[in-house]
Amino acid sequence: SPQIVWLRRDLRLADQPAFHAAAQAGPVVAVYVLDDGIAGRNAIGGAARWWLHHSLESLSRDLDRLGSRLILRRGRAADQVAQVAREAGATTVHAIRHYEPWWRDAENALAESVELMLYDGNYLLPPDVLRTGAETPYKIFTPFSKALLAKMPPREPLPAPGSLQPPGNLPASDNLADWRLLPSHPDWSGGLAAFWQVGEAAAHAQLEDWADRVDDYAETRNLPSEDGSSRLSPHLHWGEISPAQVWHRLDRGGGAGWSTFARELIWRDYAQNIIVQFPRHGEQSCRDGFSGVWRSGAAAGDDLRAWQRGMTGYPIVDAGMRQLWQTGWMHNRVRMVAASFLVKHLLIDWREGARWFWDCLVDADYGNNSVNWQWISGTGVDSNMFVRIMAPLTQSEKFRAGDYIREFVPELADVRDPLIHDPPDEMRGSYPPKVIGHREARERALGAYRDQKD
Ligand code: FAD
Repeated sequence: SPQIVWLRRDLRLADQPAFHAAAQAGPVVAVYVLDDGIAGRNAIGGAARWWLHHSLESLSRDLDRLGSRLILRRGRAADQVAQVAREAGATTVHAIRHYEPWWRDAENALAESVELMLYDGNYLLPPDVLRTGAETPYKIFTPFSKALLAKMPPREPLPAPGSLQPPGNLPASDNLADWRLLPSHPDWSGGLAAFWQVGEAAAHAQLEDWADRVDDYAETRNLPSEDGSSRLSPHLHWGEISPAQVWHRLDRGGGAGWSTFARELIWRDYAQNIIVQFPRHGEQSCRDGFSGVWRSGAAAGDDLRAWQRGMTGYPIVDAGMRQLWQTGWMHNRVRMVAASFLVKHLLIDWREGARWFWDCLVDADYGNNSVNWQWISGTGVDSNMFVRIMAPLTQSEKFRAGDYIREFVPELADVRDPLIHDPPDEMRGSYPPKVIGHREARERALGAYRDQKD
C-alpha cells in the first residue's frame, strides 16, 4: 500500500531513514507542508524562506528523476499530512523526528489519525539518549561531549533509494511559486544567491571541498578574513546532508583539525539536548536576574537599529552584521562578538538579537541560535558569565579581521591595518563614530549587573 514520507528539515534522499523505510514498503508520496502558524514567533524567517524555496525546488527535481513527485501543501501540518495520506489511500506516514517543541506537538497530533513511524537521522545520536550516572540528561557541554564521543562513530549512512514508485492516486500539490517564499518587493536576495548553492547535491559538493581543508580548521576557524570553516550550517539545518554523512566522510582517525571540527558538530547535538529539556529555551532565560539590566522593544530603540544595520562604529561588529544581511550567514567568531556587544555594550535583551538573527540567517536554528545566545548572555544552563565582557577591538586585532572589515564595510576600504580595527575620526569618512566607548560600556554593564544583584 502507498507510504507517505513527511518532510520538514530533512530535505534529502540519501541517509534519509524515512525515505529508506517507505521505499521498501510500497509506492511513495513525499509531502512538505508549509505551516506558518505552528511555531508562533519562530515561524521560518525571511532568509530561511529563501533557502527553503531553493531546497524544495532541488529536492523536487531529484524526486522527479527517481520517478516520484514532491507534494506541497499549506496549512496545519498534522491535518494536511493526514489529508494527503487519505487522498493517496495510505495509512502509514514515515518521518524523521524533530525536537523543536512545535514539531513534537505536531507529531503527537498526527499520530492520532495515522500510523506514524518516526526515525532518528538529523543528529549524531538522538538527543535524549545520553544520560549521566544519575540517569538525568546532560546540562553541561563537556561531559555531554565525552559521553557522545564514547558512542562514536555514528551508524553508517543509508544509501539513497534507487527509484521510487508513485502510487496510483497522486494527491494534488500546490505550486511552489505561489507560496512566495522568495522576496520580491524589494528583492534583497542577490547577496544570498551569490554566496550559496542550495540542495542535497550542493551540500555534498561543499563537504568535498571542506574535506580538503578540514586539517587546517584548528588554526583557521577563528579568522573571519579566511574561508576557514565548513559553511555547512544551512545544509545541516535543512537536513540536506546528515551529520553521520559528514562524520564518515571526514573522520580519518585524528588530526587536530578534525577533532576540533567534530567538537562543533557535537555542539549541534548538545543544543538539541538542551531544547528537549527546556522546550521554551528560545523565549525563556535559564537564569534570572537580568530583567533590570537589559532593554527591549521601544526602549532598545536607536541602539538596536544601529546594531541591526551595522552602524555601531565598531568595525568588526558592523562587518558581521552587514555580512549577515548580505549573505544570510555570519562567521562564528563574529557572531560571538556581535552578540556580546548587543547584550553587554548596548544592554539589550538577548531575545532582540536572537530574533534578528532568526530572520536574517539561512541557518537559523531554534536549538543552535538560542543555546549560543544564552551562552553569550550568561543566562544559559552551561554558562559563560555575564561579567566576562568581550572587547571587540581586541578581538578584531587578535583574529586579524582587517580584510573582512574592508570587504563588508566599504566606507573603510582604504584604511590599513592596524588602524582598521578602530579607525581615528579623520579616517572614518561617512562611517559613524562609536555608539559608546568600550571602557564606558564595560563599566556600565558591570554596574548594571551589580545593581541588579544587590
Ligand atoms: P563550522 O565551524 O564549519 O562548524 C560545523 C558545524 O557545526 C556547523 O555547520 C554547525 O552545524 C555546527 N556548529 C558549529 N558551531 C556551533 C555552535 N557554536 N553551536 C552549535 N552548532 C555549531 N548555528 C546555526 O546553525 N544556527 C544558528 O541559528 C546559530 N546561531 C548562532 C547565534 C550565535 C549568537 C552564535 C555565537 C552562534 C550561532 N550558531 C548558529 C553557531 C555557529 O556560529 C554556526 O553554526 C557556524 O558559524 C556555522 O558556520 P559553519 O558551518 O562554517 O561552521
